[in-house]
Amino acid sequence: MGAQIRYSVVIPVYNEEAVVHETYRRLKTVMNGMGETYELLFVNDGSRDRTAEILMEYSQIDDTVKLLDFSRNFGHQIAITAGMDYAAGDAVIVIDADLQDPPELIPDMIAKWREGFDVVYAKRTKRRGESWFKKLTARMFYRLLRLSTDIAIPLDTGDFRLLDRRVCDEMKRIPESNRFVRGLVSWIGFRQTSVEYERDERHAGQTHYPLKKMLKLSLDGITSFSYKPLKLAGYLGFLLSVSGFMYMLYVFYAKLFTDAAIPGWTSITIIQLIFNGFILIILGIVGEYIGRIYDETKGRPLYIIRKSSGIDIKQHRLPK
Ligand code: UDP
Ligand code: MG
Repeated sequence: MGAQIRYSVVIPVYNEEAVVHETYRRLKTVMNGMGETYELLFVNDGSRDRTAEILMEYSQIDDTVKLLDFSRNFGHQIAITAGMDYAAGDAVIVIDADLQDPPELIPDMIAKWREGFDVVYAKRTKRRGESWFKKLTARMFYRLLRLSTDIAIPLDTGDFRLLDRRVCDEMKRIPESNRFVRGLVSWIGFRQTSVEYERDERHAGQTHYPLKKMLKLSLDGITSFSYKPLKLAGYLGFLLSVSGFMYMLYVFYAKLFTDAAIPGWTSITIIQLIFNGFILIILGIVGEYIGRIYDETKGRPLYIIRKSSGIDIKQHRLPK
């Protein structure tokens, strides 16, 4: 203890008792092979199984294992954030616990870092063992995100990445609460590069990203990096007013110069339905932004730590 730590590996864990043993073993093998100091910083995101106990035991027999234990489930992105807040290394590597991100790729990332890159993200060329629905929606999401923002957020890239100390320090200065970490890292800039890999199946257990969490993450991604959906609402409104106005002209024309002005129940109903639908969609979009503005103004801390092991948690992340 006390020696400067070279590498921090941040691992968010949520109900992963079936995989943590194997994750620990594979990470140890890889990190021991680097021949430098390191820490394995697990962030337990309110697991309801034995994950925390298992990690606590590891941290007692192994000095390199550290644990932050949240008071409840705060979500994957917040768990990563906490890990970055407390990581001590010169380089910080964020990796999923379920071994879908192969730890064996870490040496390649470190090699790039040594070449002078500040961010090395892992881009997946294939995803195995995930449903076609997940793959399709993920593909669509990354492309939609690219269309909607000017920040170059790399396609098909999750949070598996290496960050230099200075990038990590900049991350700590970002207070926003609905975080889309991979976007924020792109936003920070510096020299970024990628290594490619094939994403494996989950080692054991089930995904903890059901549709609801996926939707939340993608909405955070888009709303925190783009106003385009709000502008879209404006454009749609404009388009609808123009066509409404033209239709009005036609209605007058029909009334004055033809005998076709029959009581138009059908057209009125259709127009009502369409316009009301659009208005509700637009209100929904506005609501997504307002909800997030509300979250930010509350200025609550991002997470609460119940206990920790191997880390001094006195210096808490402060709200703005
Ligand atoms: N995770 C977390 N909190 C959550 C959900 C997930 O810390 O609320 C962790 C989980 O333990 C894993 C990583 O985030 O290490 C990615 O989750 P998962 O593998 O379930 O997502 P997927 O790979 O299916 O997108
Ligand atoms: Mg996974």
